[in-house]
Amino acid sequence: MAGVAVFRPLVRAPVRSLARTYATSIPSKAHHRVVIVGGGTAGVTVAAQLQHNPEFQNKDIAILDPAKTHHYQPGWTLVGSGLRPLEDMHRPIHSVIPQGVKHYPLRVSTFDPENNAIKTSEGVDVSYDYLIVAPGLETNFAGISGLEQALQDPASQVSSIYSERTVEQVWRNIQASKKGPAIFTQPAGIIKCAGAPQKVMWMALSQWKRDGVRDNIDITFATGGPAMFAVPKYSQALEELRKQRNVEGLFQHNLVKVDSKNKVATFKNLAEGANGALVEREFGFLHVVPPQKPFDWVAKSQLADAAGWVDVDKSTTQHTKYKNVFSLGDASSLPNSKTAAAITAQAPVLIDNLLAVTKGKELKAAYDGYASCPLLTGHGELMLCEFKYGGVPKETFANILGGQESPNRLYYHLKKDFFPYAYWNYFVKGNWYGPSGFFKPDITSN
Ligand SMILES: Cc1cc2nc3c(=O)[nH]c(=O)nc-3n(C[C@H](O)[C@H](O)[C@H](O)COP(=O)(O)OP(=O)(O)OC[C@H]3O[C@@H](n4cnc5c(N)ncnc54)[C@H](O)[C@@H]3O)c2cc1C
Repeated sequence: MAGVAVFRPLVRAPVRSLARTYATSIPSKAHHRVVIVGGGTAGVTVAAQLQHNPEFQNKDIAILDPAKTHHYQPGWTLVGSGLRPLEDMHRPIHSVIPQGVKHYPLRVSTFDPENNAIKTSEGVDVSYDYLIVAPGLETNFAGISGLEQALQDPASQVSSIYSERTVEQVWRNIQASKKGPAIFTQPAGIIKCAGAPQKVMWMALSQWKRDGVRDNIDITFATGGPAMFAVPKYSQALEELRKQRNVEGLFQHNLVKVDSKNKVATFKNLAEGANGALVEREFGFLHVVPPQKPFDWVAKSQLADAAGWVDVDKSTTQHTKYKNVFSLGDASSLPNSKTAAAITAQAPVLIDNLLAVTKGKELKAAYDGYASCPLLTGHGELMLCEFKYGGVPKETFANILGGQESPNRLYYHLKKDFFPYAYWNYFVKGNWYGPSGFFKPDITSN
């Protein structure tokens, strides 16, 4: 397969609509050696790490992503909690695309892996020698009846940290709440950063305590899941905290409807024997985490597994059928907790194995499922959950500081101050490996 880009002049109508801005750079057809779909946390990190590798550096890498802005989504919890401004959590996408990597502001619509090709909504055909799929997932606000209308009305007291458009309202609502029931929801099923729905709750509780109104607010954590967290060690510690702090746990209750006019939230009871009974709760404050799913265009493609995620080997990150295709981040079928932290461990594995494929060698690098959830439990305290496949803890500081289920101020400042700094200065530049810091971990010994 040719490693040289083939550019043809603009011919198709949809492409012309982009011509005003990108007239000289958008061809109707292109070929690149490595094509990356998505310039989010995973796509940009993997591109930057490829650029550090002499085998790939400046060897015809392209990213396709129509977004103008790149978001540091883990920072949205800090914004919703009033700890950091939103402007710290995004940058123009062009500023994080590594030098030497071609960026197309195009929306991928179809994969054609039999022909090593993809199509974009703008009508551009792009072929590749190797493909890395990292478009993230869809946060489905429409999946809860009445939610979108409620979020558009600042008076509704309904908000969500799961979008840059709604996150600032969270902090405004927390500040405005003085009494009445407050409900924090978490949907059933896979979501990104499964700890975030309760991080914002612990921060709101802490703020209401500071404001002297905590005793006037009944707090409920309503989750589609059966427990506080999926990893038993941390779940137990969080359950103790919940009871200690007098927070109601409404488990296996999945939010299905928001009536912002009457301030009523409707849940479906998922517990065995409940027959999906609907449960109505009045609220004064409602924080919603919408259900999440693979994008339809990914789910319908030949790359997807039965659930719609990009079907890759859980250890190598290589596609189970198409050997020149890899995936990482939220879009992949990797059965880890979907976090940016996981990407720090996935990216070097993917690159080692991609290199092995280019040389016809055996794939030796293995991802162990590492993920981390820095779980804010209040001002000045954070439980640093770190674990691998099987919910087995893999704690970086346990030998020095003891079990990381005990909230600690140092971890709080890592999340609030250091991680955002490390993200913009090292992570997106391909120089950050999570628990291994600036040093590439030994990825063949997992
Ligand atoms: C509120 C919140 C709190 C979080 N907290 C943490 C935390 O504390 N710690 C942690 O590690 N992680 C956290 N996360 C999770 C973390 O942000 C994600 O796991 C991470 O961003 C996933 O990276 P990604 O590249 O797979 O997807 P994204 O970063 O979402 O990027 C996907 C990219 O693909 C692009 N794209 C989409 N569709 C197309 C298309 N059709 N064609 C081309 N490009 C496309 C998008 O424009 C986007 O740029 C949090 C997430 C949220 C929302």
